[in-house]
Amino acid sequence: MKDLKAKLDNVRSRIKSACEKAERNASEITVLAVSKRHPATRIRQLHQLGLNAFGENYMQEAIDKQARLTDLELEWHFIGPVQSNKTRELAQHFDWVQSADREKILRRLSAQRPESFPQLNICLQVNIDQEEQKAGILPEDLEEMVDFTLGLPNLRLRGLMAIPRQASAEHDPASSYQRMDELFRSLVSSGISLDTLSMGMSADLDQAIMQGSTMLRIGTDLFGVRPEQKKP
Ligand SMILES: *Cc1c(COP(=O)(O)O)cnc(C)c1O
Repeated sequence: MKDLKAKLDNVRSRIKSACEKAERNASEITVLAVSKRHPATRIRQLHQLGLNAFGENYMQEAIDKQARLTDLELEWHFIGPVQSNKTRELAQHFDWVQSADREKILRRLSAQRPESFPQLNICLQVNIDQEEQKAGILPEDLEEMVDFTLGLPNLRLRGLMAIPRQASAEHDPASSYQRMDELFRSLVSSGISLDTLSMGMSADLDQAIMQGSTMLRIGTDLFGVRPEQKKP
């Protein structure tokens, strides 16, 4: 618990100084704690320290942990690749899906959202660096997908999500974040009400804040290094 507190304090102070540099208010930034491969006990501890939004990538793992934490008021975000045979469970177990990127997935999520639940919050994932192996909508197809999503009754479009190309000598992720910010702003200025630009992870949260991020997805710098994936 003490280690988690120190890590969280460190993340908070990085956010604070990035916000000062960017002349932004730290209250505009949500921290999504990415808990994939970390046990429910650690989620419980981080919740005690004041976080309530958690991000998961693997359906079964997420559902198992949720079952151990039903006594807490948590907000669950799915941020992993979405398979169309998993949309029903997604619609039943999550508050947000940040990795939606195809009409078929969106249509199913809306149709399968239980009637008694509030609308499912959606971020459209953008493949901002047009990487072949990566999920996400190409920037030129984004407007059409936005319109499609707005037409679905049980979804609430909140914004955009991106995982940019890794930093290297040839690529500075700040440029990807900047292009995301431009896409986001152009949708907002065309009259679409969006409030979430989900970008920035442990390594580059400072840059993401400079470029307008409103939601940081942080795993390693909060929980420590992820345990190895269990072999089946
Ligand atoms: C794992 C993951 C993160 C967190 O990455 P860290 O480098 O551990 O902070 C953020 N976003 C997505 C989509 C992820 O899959």
